[in-house]
Amino acid sequence: MNAIFQDSSRQPLVSLRNLNKHYGNFVAVDNLSLDIQEGEFLTFLGSSGSGKSTTLSMLAGFETPSSGAIEVGGKDLVNVPPHKRGIGMVFQRYSLFPHLSVRDNIAFPLAIRKLDAAERERKVDAMLRLVQLEAFANRRPAQLSGGQQQRVAIARALVYEPRILLMDEPLGALDKKLREDLQDELRQLHRRLGLTIVYVTHDQEEAMRLSQRIAIFSHGKIVGLGSGVSLYQDPPNAFVASFLGNSNFLDVTATGQGAASFEGQGLAMRLSSEHRTGDALRLMVRPEKALALSQADAATNPLPPGWNEVSATVSELLFLGESQTCSVVTAGGTELTVRALSATGLPFKPGDTVKVRWAAADACIYSA
Ligand code: ADP
Repeated sequence: MNAIFQDSSRQPLVSLRNLNKHYGNFVAVDNLSLDIQEGEFLTFLGSSGSGKSTTLSMLAGFETPSSGAIEVGGKDLVNVPPHKRGIGMVFQRYSLFPHLSVRDNIAFPLAIRKLDAAERERKVDAMLRLVQLEAFANRRPAQLSGGQQQRVAIARALVYEPRILLMDEPLGALDKKLREDLQDELRQLHRRLGLTIVYVTHDQEEAMRLSQRIAIFSHGKIVGLGSGVSLYQDPPNAFVASFLGNSNFLDVTATGQGAASFEGQGLAMRLSSEHRTGDALRLMVRPEKALALSQADAATNPLPPGWNEVSATVSELLFLGESQTCSVVTAGGTELTVRALSATGLPFKPGDTVKVRWAAADACIYSA
C-alpha cells in the first residue's frame, strides 16, 4: 500500500463515520466508516446493489443518512446542501443540457454562481483545454461522441474547482477501447490537478487501472480496503479473494502449526497464530501461482521445500491469447485452475493425470 495512505496521523479530507442508510427495513448502507485522504483516487468497487451509489450520494448531499456523520476538512456536512459542499459530480448519464453548446454547458455552474463574464470565459477556456475540446466549444452535445460528452461532463464538474470529484460509473456507457482511453486521461488528470476523486464502478479492471485505493463493497459494508496490489495478493477474506480476480479454494483441516490435511493428504501451510489444530480452513491459491506438471516431469523434479503437490485429472484447457488455463479435478472432487503464459504452455489434454504444485507461502488462509 502506498505509504501516504497508511499514515494515520494525517488528518483525512473526508471522514465517513458509522454511516447508515435504511429504506424501510432494508439496510442499503450498514454502519460504514471510511477515511479519504486529500489527493487520493479511491474507488468503490462492488456488485450491483452493494451500496456504492448510496454512499456516494450521501457524500454529495443528494441522500440524507439515516444516522452517522460525514465530515469534510473536519466540518460536519450532513446539513450542508449539495451545491455548498465543494464537491463535483459526474454520472454515467452525462446529463448535459442538449440545447446548450459545449462552452455554455461548462459555464453553467459558474453562471448559477454568478461569476462575472470575463472570469467565466477564462475558466471555461482553461477547462476546454484541459479536456482537449477547444475545437468543439460551439457544438451541441448531440454532435459529440459519447467519450467527448463525458469529457464535457467532467469539465463542467471541475470548472468551479471542487476539492472533491465524485464519479458514479462515468464510463459505464462507453465501449471498451474508449473506456480505456478515458481511464488513462482520468488518471493523468488526477495526477496533474492533485484532486481527490471518489469513483464508483462494478468493473474490477477499471478499479485496478485507476485507483490508489479500492474499497470493496458487499451488502452495504466495506469488506476490503487497500491498494489493488495488496487486495489482490493478500485478500483480507475469502469474499475479496473471489471477487477480485480468480481463485482456487481448498477445504483443509489444520493438523498443527504450518500443517494441514487436504482430502486425506498432508499439506504445508504458512505459519499463522490465528488457527488451532482441528480448525476447518480454506486455502486460497491464485491460478497463476499454481503449476501443473506431467507425472514424468514431477518424477524428475523433486518437490522444493515449502511446496505442496496434489494429483488431479485435467478436465478442460482454454486458450486466452496471452495466457492459457488448465482446469483439473482432484480425487476428492475439488476443482482447481492453473494459469500459465501461452509462451510457457500447458501441454495437456482432458483426462491426463497431472501434479498441481504451489508454494505454501503463496496460499492465503481463511476460516471456513
Ligand atoms: P450500488 O451502487 O452498489 O449498485 P446502491 O447504493 O444503488 O447500490 O443500492 C443499494 C441498495 O439500496 C439496493 O438494493 C437498492 O435497491 C437499494 N436502494 C437504493 N435506493 C433506494 C430507494 N430510494 N428506495 C429503496 N431502496 C433503494
